[in-house]
Amino acid sequence: TPSLYVVATPIGHLADIGARALGVLREVDAIAAEDTRHSQRLLEAHGIRTPLFALHEHNEQSAASRVIALLAEGRHVALVSDAGTPGVSDPGARAVARVHAAGHPVVPVPGACAAIAALSASGLGETGFRFAGFLPPKSAARRATLAALVASPVALVLYESPHRIVECVDDLVAVFGEEREVVLARELTKLHEQIVRMPLADAPAWLAQDANRRRGEFVLVVSGCPPSEGLEPEAERVLALLLAELP
Ligand code: SAM
Repeated sequence: TPSLYVVATPIGHLADIGARALGVLREVDAIAAEDTRHSQRLLEAHGIRTPLFALHEHNEQSAASRVIALLAEGRHVALVSDAGTPGVSDPGARAVARVHAAGHPVVPVPGACAAIAALSASGLGETGFRFAGFLPPKSAARRATLAALVASPVALVLYESPHRIVECVDDLVAVFGEEREVVLARELTKLHEQIVRMPLADAPAWLAQDANRRRGEFVLVVSGCPPSEGLEPEAERVLALLLAELP
């Protein structure tokens, strides 16, 4: 059956792509890509000549319609984003939802994902995690979003761009306090990969110490709320009961 293959591509290191992903990219009839020039380089590196078309946030509706039309004609289509797993904090998600709505199968071809790579190297993911993607760009909204996450007992995983990393870490300290552990993972799988873990209190000074530490792409992992800081078990149980009654 004609399907949409959601194919993960590398987040830096070009070798981080599996044999199955390469086979799918070679065999499908077309590839919808967030940035066709960027993906073209990946395909060329592997001698793949499958035609590409753009599916990004500015043409999402029409490009998704094109994907659906191809599937309806009996063609196989792959979806790739600039880096990592499509649909995780990038425009692929809504296109995938449209394909489901049109009744076509969606097949994941898993691989690199910045959030999971950082989590696996953080040592904070044992009891689960909460992925919040990108926080709002303005500080007030960012702090409000963080405040709603502060009581979560599991690790929090965030994406951040280099131009907001300092402000984001300052807001994390302001909302989560100084004692939680943070892992700053920058340039994962790339030449200047750096993964450091420290109490939140130390993170602003660490970033301030060297401009290179503020460059590149970041994943932040913050440890979850320790049990004692959260609600007492009895209060938790009552709250769960009350919440279950809410409409
Ligand atoms: N879909 C992608 C994935 O599966 O990881 C994420 C796309 S999102 C638009 C881009 C963000 O992912 C960056 O701003 C950064 O927070 C994170 N990211 C992507 N590649 C990274 C890398 N090599 N090192 C650290 N963070 C990375």
